[in-house]
Amino acid sequence: MADKVERLKTLIIGSGPAGYTAAIYASRADLKPVLYTGMEPGGQLTTTTEVDNFPGYPEGVDGPTMMVQLQKQAERFGTEVRIGMITAVNFSDEVGGIHKVTVDDSKIIEAETVIISTGATAKYLGIPSEQKLRGGGVSACAVCDGFFYKGQEVAIVGAGDTAAEEASYLANICKKVTMLVRRDEMRASKAMQHRVNSLDNIEIRYNTEVDTVLGDQVVEGLRMVNNVTGEKEDIAITGLFIAIGHKPNTDIFKGQLEMDETGYIITHGKTTKTSKPGVFASGDVQDKEYRQAVTAAGTGCMAALDAERYLATIESHQEVSS
Ligand SMILES: Cc1cc2nc3c(=O)[nH]c(=O)nc-3n(C[C@H](O)[C@H](O)[C@H](O)COP(=O)(O)OP(=O)(O)OC[C@H]3O[C@@H](n4cnc5c(N)ncnc54)[C@H](O)[C@@H]3O)c2cc1C
Repeated sequence: MADKVERLKTLIIGSGPAGYTAAIYASRADLKPVLYTGMEPGGQLTTTTEVDNFPGYPEGVDGPTMMVQLQKQAERFGTEVRIGMITAVNFSDEVGGIHKVTVDDSKIIEAETVIISTGATAKYLGIPSEQKLRGGGVSACAVCDGFFYKGQEVAIVGAGDTAAEEASYLANICKKVTMLVRRDEMRASKAMQHRVNSLDNIEIRYNTEVDTVLGDQVVEGLRMVNNVTGEKEDIAITGLFIAIGHKPNTDIFKGQLEMDETGYIITHGKTTKTSKPGVFASGDVQDKEYRQAVTAAGTGCMAALDAERYLATIESHQEVSS
């Protein structure tokens, strides 16, 4: 039940690099943003140890530390960071309309602008040995973590374009890449399949799945199973990459915003504008292409600038009409 209504200029949903960057820009522009963290304060980077590719950290930084720093930077300019989950939204169709947002099924917020930065969640296989070794050699991001396996033997699970792309990326860095494809063919486009097939150090195993990830603290090998013959085989690897897709965190926006067939929010042109005026989307929730912290931060900046311009247009329109 609703217990309280609060009016805000700018509400930011999500506390990953996109949300905090939007918060830094929005608070410096005096939009007095309130940011809700969701269930994963700090976002996906809090699940990784080493971030080596975010500009400004010559020695690298561990993910949780970087996210605390981003939070502090946003708070320094007046962003109010609150723990809480947005559980429902009712976005206005009108330019200058007020968007109603429910927090934790109870509190109602009315916001002039909303910046959605709810990210995407990488899908994992869900088997215990894989879960145990997440961060210990099991990763869902080859571009992020491939570098740590330079010159080593790794495996990748997946059969779509992203898996093929990531396998090629790994093949440039690693000694050998074993690619596990569940069916007897890949789903990736012919062009991507051709790329994978042309690389000598990628070995594709069709009809093959992960039985067990071997290792105690870190990945030491992989027990594969052929799903036609039932035959099992162990290989020595140090890294296992899961590339079976991501799920954008957009369930609560269904029916409210334009999305693509996989649930990513569609933004218009080179902006972060969504299908509703005053609602903007930044980060992985609207980007299935790049999915990096720096690109998420970049679009977070854009969303705050778009929100600021939108509010300025509304205010000048109201002044002219009054
Ligand atoms: C294991 C791993 C390692 C990675 N390593 C790197 C790396 O080294 N370098 C790099 O550039 N990228 C890396 N990435 C990718 C990077 O983490 C993402 O691209 C980036 O975090 C996306 O930022 P974001 O702000 O869009 O969303 P996220 O970081 O996904 O954050 C989403 C936020 O939204 C919140 N949220 C979701 N739903 C709600 C709701 N209903 N209400 C309120 N809040 C909500 C969540 O709690 C979370 O705070 C890695 C990813 C993973 C999984």
